[in-house]
Amino acid sequence: MTSTLFFPDHYRAARTAFIAAAEAAELGVTSRLLPGIKGHDGAPLFLDTAWAGRRDARSALLLISGTHGVEGYFGSGIQTTLLREGLAARVPAGSKLVLLHALNPYGFSFDRRVNEDNADINRNFVDHTQPPANQDYDLLADAAAPRDISPDAFAAANRVLAAFGAKHGSFTLQAALSRGQYRHPDGIYYGGAKLSWSLRMLKDVLDEELKDVERLIVIDFHTGLGEYGAAEIITEAQSGSAAFDRARRIWGTSVLSTADGQSLSAHLHGTIDSAMAAWMGTRSLTFVALEVGTEPVAAVFEALRKDNWLCCHAPADYPHGADIKRQIRDAFYPDREDWKAMVWAHGQAVVARALAAL
Ligand SMILES: [Zn+2]
Repeated sequence: MTSTLFFPDHYRAARTAFIAAAEAAELGVTSRLLPGIKGHDGAPLFLDTAWAGRRDARSALLLISGTHGVEGYFGSGIQTTLLREGLAARVPAGSKLVLLHALNPYGFSFDRRVNEDNADINRNFVDHTQPPANQDYDLLADAAAPRDISPDAFAAANRVLAAFGAKHGSFTLQAALSRGQYRHPDGIYYGGAKLSWSLRMLKDVLDEELKDVERLIVIDFHTGLGEYGAAEIITEAQSGSAAFDRARRIWGTSVLSTADGQSLSAHLHGTIDSAMAAWMGTRSLTFVALEVGTEPVAAVFEALRKDNWLCCHAPADYPHGADIKRQIRDAFYPDREDWKAMVWAHGQAVVARALAAL
């Protein structure tokens, strides 16, 4: 059977389609307003949740889209398509499904990976009075997020990064840039200076929609790492740990750990996984990121840096902002039928396994 895929064109369409699909499935929707900030279209921004199954279930599956804003086309498309295909009726008796749509609605609306404070909410859960150091990033800060993106200046910045990679290895370079930094608010992979609204709302969802849950499986949908249309199921749990073993029992050997270098992703500071683990205490959490590939890593990284420049360093009258916005959107959402078919196949299979494990 060929599915009709509901991949949205922008945040507002994504939200409308998600709510309509939830209503068609006879599910209620709870909306949390991002205060004081409007979207690209001038309208308010929301994090929305819908749930199905038993209200006070002990066992639940949580599906999160839009953690990284512009990556939300993928997760939203999976959520809405699954709802349209009868997902709510497939929730096993006695358990619960919660769909969290657009955890970072600002980034989704403005086609940015970060939130309203230029912060990566998946690096945000740290003690902000004593954030982790990232001395490699400090060293590379000017090259990572150049203040000048003219071809010569950008090439010079790239040479600095390449020299670091040649000396320490490309994975060390990737980790230095991407694991999170807390000293450069106008840089990339900035973890913020305070607990973000998105994480506070996630805690609220845990306390409200998931308050009776003793056993939670989470799938957080991401894009931008890996081969075009390929998928990786990423855990932060060390191999051999109970959380790692639970994930492997659900998804098999396609689960890879960042803790011991199996994954394409570096091991990160202040993630949503670590936040939920802290909040859940002794309750059981099996958290994975489903990461799907888009463009080559160099293209994704260039788009990210230029978008950061546009946000933080560009002159107000810069004439080519639309080109940069097109570049970052393409880097995280290849709006092509073959890509959508591939990532839909991954998304629905990963969710089906989680449902079976409930
Ligand atoms: Zn991501």
